[in-house]
Amino acid sequence: MSLLKAKLIGASLCSLLIFNSAIASEKSNKNNDVSKPNLIVILTDDQGYGDVGFNGSTDIKTPQIDRIATQGTKFTNGYVTFPVCGPSRAGLLTGRYQGRFGFNYNPTMDPSVEQNGIPTTEKNIAEVLKPAGYTSGILGKWHMGTHPDLRPNKRGFDYFYGFLSGGHQYFPEEMKFNDLSEVKYKFDWYRTRLLRNETRIDFDEYLTDEISHEAVDFIKREKDNPFFLYVAYNAPHAPVQATKKYLDRYKHIKDKKRRTYAAMVSAVDDGVGRILDTLQQQGIDENTIVFFLSDNGGARTNGSDNGELRGFKNDLFEGGVRVPFAVRWPNKVPAGLDYHKPVSSLDILATVVSQANIDVSNNKPLDGVDLLPYLTGENKGQPHDVLFWQHVKATSHAIRVGDDKIVVKAGEQMLFDMDKDHVEKKDLSKKQADKVKALEKQYEQWEAEQQDDAFPDLHNWKPTNPKYQKKNKKKGKKKNNKNKAN
Ligand code: CA
Repeated sequence: MSLLKAKLIGASLCSLLIFNSAIASEKSNKNNDVSKPNLIVILTDDQGYGDVGFNGSTDIKTPQIDRIATQGTKFTNGYVTFPVCGPSRAGLLTGRYQGRFGFNYNPTMDPSVEQNGIPTTEKNIAEVLKPAGYTSGILGKWHMGTHPDLRPNKRGFDYFYGFLSGGHQYFPEEMKFNDLSEVKYKFDWYRTRLLRNETRIDFDEYLTDEISHEAVDFIKREKDNPFFLYVAYNAPHAPVQATKKYLDRYKHIKDKKRRTYAAMVSAVDDGVGRILDTLQQQGIDENTIVFFLSDNGGARTNGSDNGELRGFKNDLFEGGVRVPFAVRWPNKVPAGLDYHKPVSSLDILATVVSQANIDVSNNKPLDGVDLLPYLTGENKGQPHDVLFWQHVKATSHAIRVGDDKIVVKAGEQMLFDMDKDHVEKKDLSKKQADKVKALEKQYEQWEAEQQDDAFPDLHNWKPTNPKYQKKNKKKGKKKNNKNKAN
C-alpha cells in the first residue's frame, strides 16, 4: 500500500466513523445472516504462549488481541498439531492431521516439486467453503507449496496478498528478487517481492502494517457476502525486525532481541485492533467468528517467552505445541470464559462448517470438532478424547488423553500429569508403566494411519537457476545464518 493510499484511508476513516452507526443498523445488509458466519483466522508465527496479555504477559501489552479473549473465550489448553510452521498450518487449514497426507515437515521451496504442499486430494478451508458461497482471502505467509498448482489462487483462495516462503524480511527495501528463480542462497527467498495473486508488487510500509491494511481493505470489499479471511502474519518469526514506532513502546526492555520481538507483537496487536474495529464499523461484528492463535510455540531464536511451559518451537513439550489461542463471536461464544479442556487448531474448520451447515460428509473425515456446543456448556464432555503429535524428523511423538500426556523423544518415554504438572517437570513413566504402555498402543494405532514424507524438506534445496548452484552451499550458510529459522 502506498503512503498516499494509507493517508486517504486515514482521511476516509473520519467519514466512515460518522456513518458507522447508520451502517451498523442497516438491516438489509446481506451479510447479517448468522447462519453463514464469516470466519477470520488471525495466525501469528512463533509467538510464545506467555506473550499475550490474556496469558499473563507483563512486559508485552496486547490490548487489542486481548479483546478477542475477553469478549470471547480463551483456551488455556489450546494446541496446534505440530511444533513448526508448515505442518501446523497444513493441519489447521485442512482440519485433518497433516501426517495423513505426509506433510511431516516444512516443504522445500523448489517450485518444480509437485508434491511440496497440501496434496490436491485434500481440501483446505477455502476449498470447503467455496461451494457454500464464501469468498476467501489469504494475507501474508502461505508456506503450503510453491509449485504453480499448489499456490493460494489454485487452492480455493480468491485473493492472495503475501509471499510463498516460510518467513520474510519486514522492510520493503529488502525485497530484491522478482521470483524464486532469482534466489541464489537458502533463506534469500525471504527477499522475494510480494505477490498480489500471481503478480509481483511493491509496497512501502513495514510488512506487518501492510498485512493489517490489506485485512481492513478485504473486509470492506467483501462485507456483503460470506467470507473467510486468513490473516497469516509472519510476525514475530525471525528475522527480528521492527520500526521505531513500535520499538519506542518498549524502551524499558533492555534486551535488544526481546525489545524488538515485543515491538513486532505490538504491530500485530495494532493490526488486530484495526480488524476488530472494521468489523464493527461495517456492521458485521456479530456475524463474524474470529480465531486468534500462533502456529507453534515461541522459538529459541526470536526472543519469545512460553511462560512456565517447558520447551520451545520444535519440541513436543507444551512450549512447542500449546499456543495463545482464543475465539470471539458475539452472542454465540461465551464472553470472558476460560475454557480448560484441550482443543486443537483442527477444530477451526470443523466449527465453521458445522455452524454454517455445510455438508462435508463426502469429504475425507475431519479430525476436528465443532467447539460451540462445548463452549456454551450444551456438551459437558471433552472435545477430544485424545490428541496426537508426531515429529518424525525429531524422532519424537506425544499423546494427550485427559490429563495424561506422554512425550517420547529419541526413545525416551516420559509421562506427565497435565492437571498437577503442566510444566512437565515430574516424569511418572516409571511409576505408571502400564499407563505408558496403553498410551503407546493408542499412538501406534494412530501412527499406522499416517503417511511417509510426501516431499523433500525445506533444507533439501538448491537454486532453481543452474548457474547459481555451484557456490550456493557454503555462501548461503554463512550469509543467512542470522535469518535461519524454520
Ligand atoms: Ca511458526
